[in-house]
Amino acid sequence: MTDKYIINWELSLACNLDCSFCSQKERRNLNNKIPSLENIYQIIDNLPNNTHISFLWWETLMLPNIIDIFKKLEERWISYEITTNGILLDKFFGVVMNNPTLNSLPKIREGGYNKIEQLKHLTQINISIDWYGDFHDISRWKKWLFNKLKKVIPELINIKNITISTVISPNLTNENIVKLHLWLNSIWIKEHKLIYMMNFSKIDVENSKNKIKELKIWLPGSEKLDNNVLKNNFLEKLSLLKNLWNNNPSLYSFPKIREGGYKKIQITIEPIALFKKWKISCKQLDKQLRIDENGKLSICEFITNNFDDISKIKLNDAIKNNDFIEFKKAIKSNFPLDICKTCCKLYNENSSN
Ligand code: SF4
Ligand code: SF4
Repeated sequence: MTDKYIINWELSLACNLDCSFCSQKERRNLNNKIPSLENIYQIIDNLPNNTHISFLWWETLMLPNIIDIFKKLEERWISYEITTNGILLDKFFGVVMNNPTLNSLPKIREGGYNKIEQLKHLTQINISIDWYGDFHDISRWKKWLFNKLKKVIPELINIKNITISTVISPNLTNENIVKLHLWLNSIWIKEHKLIYMMNFSKIDVENSKNKIKELKIWLPGSEKLDNNVLKNNFLEKLSLLKNLWNNNPSLYSFPKIREGGYKKIQITIEPIALFKKWKISCKQLDKQLRIDENGKLSICEFITNNFDDISKIKLNDAIKNNDFIEFKKAIKSNFPLDICKTCCKLYNENSSN
């Protein structure tokens, strides 16, 4: 663990989309209840001060009391970020702007309140966009979605740190990734995160379970692809984007953002450890914690064994639970399990990041 507790928290499995490729929709159908505000507050009360929360994967902004939850975090000075499909971003910020209770937070500057900036511990908004234009709408089954994102994202860029994540799947065409990337550059997004597609089969699940008998694994329904095809496809897209930077003078027609030169959009790759001869380990296991949709300390979205209920026990005590410690040790000593080999949580164990 690093000094700060990084907690990936699945507040709920509920989502307002039904994407064709969603790996977890069957799991969501089993349990899509929205937790009570009281329960969420109890969990927040049990977190240490030096915590950063990443609300992820499911649609956090759907929660009816989300502003109250954020206010509670603001009052505790706990930083947080959200990952969202973007559908409710405009509504969310509309509610923020019209929310009189946010006036009770300290003014951030002379002359008035900027209510969005008042959510000052909201450090980052991660938006998932896998395709440019109609293709995005087709894969997400919402024919107006991309145009909506195109309108709302540029409005937020100067207010909050926005990152865009794209899962690089083989059916994403070269033309489409270039279009997406150029558009992101034109609106001055600082970071475009490219994510390697998770790829494992029922056999990988069985092999993993054979190593650790009590392992509970949630298996996405998709078929496993040839790993070489996946890797080559990913590298092809990367080299395409690299060439775009090196050889496309039109990118330099964008205005300079500050004296001294042009700043191009930063591309980050997850997990970069796959492409280097690094000793790989898992960020989620080593540096982060996870709270599942039941409020319990858990392992990751694929390994769903869970432990103490954080609404009932301090997080600092829950991580000392022997069952939790021994279970993590078992995964570490068999690492990487077959299901871990293409996971975006891989990192270089010898690096400090
Ligand atoms: S937005 Fe994410 S969680 Fe919701 S259905 Fe799509 S892939 Fe699944
Ligand atoms: S690398 Fe393995 S343990 Fe870590 S998050 Fe991925 S699937 Fe879970």
